[in-house]
Amino acid sequence: MKIMPNRLDRGFFMYQEEFEKKAVEVLRSGWYVLGNEVRGFEQEFADYCGAKHCVGLASGLDALWIAFRILGIGKGDEVIVQGNTYIASVMGITINGATPVFVEPDEYYNIDATKIEEKISERTKAILVVHLYGQASNMKPIMEIANKYKLRVVEDCAQSHGACFDGKMTGTFGDIGCFSFYPSKNLGAFGDAGAIVTNDEKLADECRIFRNYGSEKRYYNKVVGANSRLDEMQAGLLRVRLRHLNELADEKQRICENYLAELNNPCIELPKIRDGATHIWHQFVIRTDRRDELMEYLNEKDIGTIIHYPIPPHLSEAYAYLGKKAGDYPITERYAKTVLSIPLDNGMTDEEQDIVIKAINEFR
Ligand SMILES: *Cc1c(COP(=O)(O)O)cnc(C)c1O
Repeated sequence: MKIMPNRLDRGFFMYQEEFEKKAVEVLRSGWYVLGNEVRGFEQEFADYCGAKHCVGLASGLDALWIAFRILGIGKGDEVIVQGNTYIASVMGITINGATPVFVEPDEYYNIDATKIEEKISERTKAILVVHLYGQASNMKPIMEIANKYKLRVVEDCAQSHGACFDGKMTGTFGDIGCFSFYPSKNLGAFGDAGAIVTNDEKLADECRIFRNYGSEKRYYNKVVGANSRLDEMQAGLLRVRLRHLNELADEKQRICENYLAELNNPCIELPKIRDGATHIWHQFVIRTDRRDELMEYLNEKDIGTIIHYPIPPHLSEAYAYLGKKAGDYPITERYAKTVLSIPLDNGMTDEEQDIVIKAINEFR
């Protein structure tokens, strides 16, 4: 039996009838971009997050760069971000001409809050907090630092739909929370989609204008904006999935609790949960010095795994211009060499979990 790192088809078949009914409804409606489905989804997702406003966008990357754009952060400004993130977080900063300032991660794979203050300069305008792999970052000290230095806080919640810190949803701590609904995310669409959430009405209005060529009223353009509209099909299908998000999260929780209880190979480091944080398990990430060997061993047993992420942004070709070199961020770089995401999806069977657990425990 082949076990894939992720099976997106299962998430469709689980609610096939509802998805198909909604798709046909949208197709027959004659209205395909920015309509009732988008408005409905924005309301429902804002409510889900406990935020006042949600604005649907075309992708998670758009959510990030448009967030920094409407906050007025660009050339000459610095934004603090963890070194071990998906490169889209960093592109959200650099598309606007701002400079990323990398901070090493903590043992939970999120930004190490104790290392932020030393990186703040007179150019620092914001902290981009990434709730990586589905676990909420250490928001108490982060918000204290942001308040002390009057920094904006943007949250990259592309992997943290529904994750909380001290009972408060990720995405609602800072000025703007940025979400991706790329198909593999915990709240996934059937194509590209994204959104921001915010409690600031002015920022929500500016985002709504920006996503539609800078126009509030058709053909009256206030600013040079973008085309980053969420379409009706994705919004409608997201509304269906959102209704089931809690039960989907519970299922992933059960699978990961099983992994935590049963995996016991001494050469493998299991993920840890921070006090006060919840983890929605976008990925189940283990760590070992023999990562490449383990990956090959599992592959031979038909168990697929993925590395999130093999090249940290500061060492990627795209960011050669930042002038960073290997050794600049040792913890970030060590994680890139040792992390491995093992199979996890909604619909994963007990049998599949047993096979993965047995194989990893028998790795010598
Ligand atoms: C997926 C992801 C993004 C980008 O989202 P897209 O919808 O693919 O543009 C940004 N940040 C993180 C942490 C992600 O995982």
